[in-house]
Amino acid sequence: MPRSIFAFIPLILFVAGSLPADERPNILFIMSDDHTSQAFGCYGSRLAKLNPTPTIDRLAKEGMLFENAFCTNSICTPSRACILTGQYAHINGVHDLGGKIESKRQYLALEMRQAGYHTAMIGKWHLKEEPGAFEFYSVLPGQGKYFDPVFRVQGAKKWPNNTIQFKGMHSSDAITNQTLRWLKEGWDHKRPFFLMHHYKAPHDFFEYAPRYADYLADVKIPEPANLWKQPAFGSLATRGANDELLPHIGTSIGRRNPRRNYVKHYKIDSKLSDEDAQRAAYNVYLKHYLRCVKGVDDNLARLFGHLEETGQMDNTVIIYTGDQGFMLGEHDYMDKRWMYEESQRMPLLIRYPKSIPAGSRTGTIVENVDFGPTMLDFAGVKTPSVMQGRSFRSICESGQEPAGWKQEAYYRYWMHMAHHDNPGHVGIRTKTHKLIFYYGCDYKGQQQTPPGWELYDLAKDPTEVVNQYDNPAYADVVTDLKTRLAALRTRVGDTGQDFPAVEAVIQEFWDYDQDDRKKAEEISHTYLRSRSQ
Ligand code: CA
Repeated sequence: MPRSIFAFIPLILFVAGSLPADERPNILFIMSDDHTSQAFGCYGSRLAKLNPTPTIDRLAKEGMLFENAFCTNSICTPSRACILTGQYAHINGVHDLGGKIESKRQYLALEMRQAGYHTAMIGKWHLKEEPGAFEFYSVLPGQGKYFDPVFRVQGAKKWPNNTIQFKGMHSSDAITNQTLRWLKEGWDHKRPFFLMHHYKAPHDFFEYAPRYADYLADVKIPEPANLWKQPAFGSLATRGANDELLPHIGTSIGRRNPRRNYVKHYKIDSKLSDEDAQRAAYNVYLKHYLRCVKGVDDNLARLFGHLEETGQMDNTVIIYTGDQGFMLGEHDYMDKRWMYEESQRMPLLIRYPKSIPAGSRTGTIVENVDFGPTMLDFAGVKTPSVMQGRSFRSICESGQEPAGWKQEAYYRYWMHMAHHDNPGHVGIRTKTHKLIFYYGCDYKGQQQTPPGWELYDLAKDPTEVVNQYDNPAYADVVTDLKTRLAALRTRVGDTGQDFPAVEAVIQEFWDYDQDDRKKAEEISHTYLRSRSQ
């Protein structure tokens, strides 16, 4: 940066922020791809006993763990766009993997930079356009590769034509090496840094570094009970009429979905029974996944070690998250996209010992659109009006929800039946219940799967195995949550303005009377025929 511009920065800070420059913390935002809360020690799941994340768990032990952090659209590119813009998908326009955010809308980085932070983005980016709002970047093209990864960097040529390659290296190691190098040689110490450090791991297909080949090799991975058949789970939307769509909705661990499942992918012995094959596939899947997680955790030990050595550990707000959750065999599902707990929930840990009490936990509902405002708040910057999210910094520091804090998370998945055979859906999650509406159509209102509703009582049924939508005892809950979902849609601005054909389907099946149910059954038969052709 030219000296003349640098001279103006304290003035900008005075205007933009409430904290004096020398007291502002660094902000390190660490995000792994598809690292789900079940695959942590600190979240206490069935896998915690395997101690998968000793380094990351330190952030929970010395900071705050969020039990109810949610993405608003459980898939890579949209979640990243929500974090960077502070806007829901229907506002920032990134509904699916085809979305992009150009430099002028990379609001989080722009605001940090304007406030005098030294900004850098290293690792998986997945927003297509140049990360031009950052002063330094080195990002994987698209999904990037696990081995011999190539990165798009700044240089003489126009984006995206300057590249570097790390031959013989795993992506998690290459990303950490670049961050360490930037901290040592690139960071201008006169300013605090805002660094986004994003791993590709543990995204599929879970290619771990060879040094982890023996990790968990002889361990039988604990199974979720709902890996196996749960007769009251799901709806006409996810099972079809008389369960006729079970092979076609949601890719599977076992042989259920013949198009895509891990028995097939991992070439499990075809002579095994369905149950034995499913169990074997689950174990291979989880071991590959957890070996990638281990690589992330070990690399963070290197990063945290460097921050300790340089005296920056306690002077840095360290945030760890995944871009969404992930199904690790729950309901026999793989991947994310679903509104079910394991997919909707984001792991979220924040450590900053100067103001966040060690070992604190909160059940407050926060969404990925709130992450940007919170980081800006730690930097002393007011949330820009363009962002829909709200800072939860005070919750980190006090454990108390401020007046009027949200009691509901909004959810919408748009990529109807793409890649993993998930129908389009919309829903609301409160601290105690979840209502999901599978409207089941593409952007044109076509390729219909049967519409259907699901209600889960999370207090009694945290693993979501009993759909209570048609239980008369829950009629009032359904009515209340439908009213709240409609109001929430209006509040977040998702009123169907961009896709009227989809909205027409949503409205048609909203009340879900007997005629709607009959029509949904017919749609199920039609869809089955289309898959059989
Ligand atoms: Ca992801």
